[in-house]
Amino acid sequence: MVTTHNLGFPRIGAKRELKFALESYWNGQSSREELEMVGAQLCQRHWQNQSKLDWVPVGDYSFYDHVLDMSFMLGNLPERVQSFHGNALDNYFRVARGRSTQTTEEHSACCSSVQAGEMTKWFDTNYHYIVPEFTAKTTFSLDASRLIAQIIEAKKQGIKAKPILIGPVTYLWLGKAKDNSNKLALLEKLLPVYAELLDQLAAQGVEWVQMDEPVLVTELDPDWQHALTLAYHHLKTNRVKLLLASYFGQLQENLHLATTLPVAGFHLDAINARDEVIPLLNLLSSYKVLSLGVINGRNIWKTDLNAVLDWLKPIHDTLGHRLWIAPSCSLLHVPVDLDSEQKLDPEIRSWLSFALQKLDELKVLATALNEGREAVKTELTANQTAITSRRASQRVNNPAVKAAAANITPELGKRKSPYAIRTTKQAVLLDLPIYPTTTIGSFPQTAEIRRARSQFKNGELDEADYKAAMCAEIAYAVREQEALGLDVLVHGEAERNDMVEYFGEQLEGYAFSQFGWVQSYGSRCVKPPILFGDIRRPKAMTVEWIQYAQSLTHKPMKGMLTGPVTMLNWSFVRDDQPRSASCYQLALAIRDEVLDLEKAGVRIIQIDEAALREGLPLRKKEWQQYLNWAIDSFRIAANGVSDETQIHTHMCYSEFNDIIASIAGMDTDVITIETSRSDMELLDAFDSFKYPNEIGPGVYDIHSPNIPTESHIINLMKKAGERIPAKRLWVNPDCGLKTRKWEEVTQALTNLVNAAKNLRATK
Ligand code: GLN
Ligand code: ZN
Repeated sequence: MVTTHNLGFPRIGAKRELKFALESYWNGQSSREELEMVGAQLCQRHWQNQSKLDWVPVGDYSFYDHVLDMSFMLGNLPERVQSFHGNALDNYFRVARGRSTQTTEEHSACCSSVQAGEMTKWFDTNYHYIVPEFTAKTTFSLDASRLIAQIIEAKKQGIKAKPILIGPVTYLWLGKAKDNSNKLALLEKLLPVYAELLDQLAAQGVEWVQMDEPVLVTELDPDWQHALTLAYHHLKTNRVKLLLASYFGQLQENLHLATTLPVAGFHLDAINARDEVIPLLNLLSSYKVLSLGVINGRNIWKTDLNAVLDWLKPIHDTLGHRLWIAPSCSLLHVPVDLDSEQKLDPEIRSWLSFALQKLDELKVLATALNEGREAVKTELTANQTAITSRRASQRVNNPAVKAAAANITPELGKRKSPYAIRTTKQAVLLDLPIYPTTTIGSFPQTAEIRRARSQFKNGELDEADYKAAMCAEIAYAVREQEALGLDVLVHGEAERNDMVEYFGEQLEGYAFSQFGWVQSYGSRCVKPPILFGDIRRPKAMTVEWIQYAQSLTHKPMKGMLTGPVTMLNWSFVRDDQPRSASCYQLALAIRDEVLDLEKAGVRIIQIDEAALREGLPLRKKEWQQYLNWAIDSFRIAANGVSDETQIHTHMCYSEFNDIIASIAGMDTDVITIETSRSDMELLDAFDSFKYPNEIGPGVYDIHSPNIPTESHIINLMKKAGERIPAKRLWVNPDCGLKTRKWEEVTQALTNLVNAAKNLRATK
């Protein structure tokens, strides 16, 4: 008999119930009891949803972040909040979100203002966790009350609970030593607390505990590898069985180590590491359970069940009851329920599977293995029909697009002349002052803009009226920029809901869900578009808007596009071709748009690559391969223009040190980056690389309501000038201004323009 289980379930709710409950509580519109109630209902519903499984995850639910939950459970809270009293859940939110002194909530006088915990990406996903903070003095003390309460509740509801924990080594790996001490030295203090935790779980009658150690798919130094050995020898216990879980990639050089750890079972991501299943199986002790993640927990496609069964059958024959099956990783990274999608094109919908459907697939696989395929004949036939339909669909396969992608040559990615020649030609045409000023693209997305868009979407506003409303917004943004005295203007992106969705909606090969939300952090969710087919641009996407904006001013108007790599990295992508193939297709579509803009007389074109760095593989040795096709795609999109057309790109906050050669390889005339909070230190990478082209280091932190003063901006630009020659510097904000208010923006940009004037005068 094969055993089924799940590694984690999305906690936000099929209709984002948790998001709304959290935000209403934070805004003081509902009580803590109401919030706790929504949490309890979600847990209960999700357990019921999973009750067909042999083991159901418990402890994966979180009010904000499961890493922060772990920090609370281990008693590892930053010193700045340790003196907090008041309700535990409120304190938890304070650590997660910070608090200011102006608040009127309880305990605002005694528990002073506090900075929010730092957030960073959970491995290579778009989920962000609160970084645990350590110092050499960090101590741990167990408080498992929340987890235990959940286990008791789950049991009451007849659920076979398998608690989920972040393993001790991964927990340390995820954190940051604030005093630069060696955080691994804390392992010794941490392990007894984990041991105590396992004892408490055992006392609850828990049989299996899942210990997540996704560090196993990263490059580990020998001391970290050793830490794993140490940890699991220490935690060896007969009271509960440990299922050690790795996911998101391959074990590679850690494979042998993984098999030597004294645990009762091991979970492998058999989507990313299918080739490692047999080697692992050969090394695995005969008493251990092998859990295979055979259903992709990172995408939204139906699994080809027959193909998985063909592959799994002999493994099942060998392992028998020692085989468990599951999704590859927690389902946190996929939307909850495809049944909510009533507007999706039915053909495309038939190819998809969200969290609930993935669990159904798992059940079908288990029944087929346990009782034979006949027992689930109907399900397997329906699945086969969907798989075949997707494979053969003309909407997925466009021979002309495939041919164009096959004909890509290196020439497509090359500018006609080197930067030194281009810049002289551009200078003559653009006639910009030194320290030219510009913005990154978007201006405030006001309530009126959003209202007009939603009225247009639900038919209350016709297309002509919607366009007129957007044109009025564009005209307003242009007037404001002229009044401010900016040098290179933008149209303000009023017509765009989102920088990826806006383009996806106009490209063939993209589909959009209504409820396909995935948690990004806390109450924040994203709804990634679904890239399902070969990408074609049926017609120009932005030309009319930019042309209209340009008609309102004599100053240069920047065309504004999203780059192929960002389109790819912020979408659910195809699993039937490599990511690179989809990226090249996007590049060709955007290239056509760039050339159309140029033809329409647009002199400056910005192609945003906000998410370039996000696509880097977990192992550094694989970076170059990704960068090769990613940068290549960008170049194909951007570099078809003549010398006179100036290409800009923009990147949000990124470390550049280790990818600077690739950034330089993009060969854009101008790159704008987010630097204001780093005090220009991010420019060091450009400086030491002797980056040759122009740079606009952000001088206005757009994430904050604070208005930068003129002298602050001058100061930052002077620091920039110590690293990059003034003649190659631009003056601009960190990123787009869509989340700010007009009154903030006008004040900040007034200071920015004055700072540039001042810098020019003192030159
Ligand atoms: N052009 C986009 C904007 O200004 C860029 C946003 C981003 O980089 N995230 O909003
Ligand atoms: Zn940005």
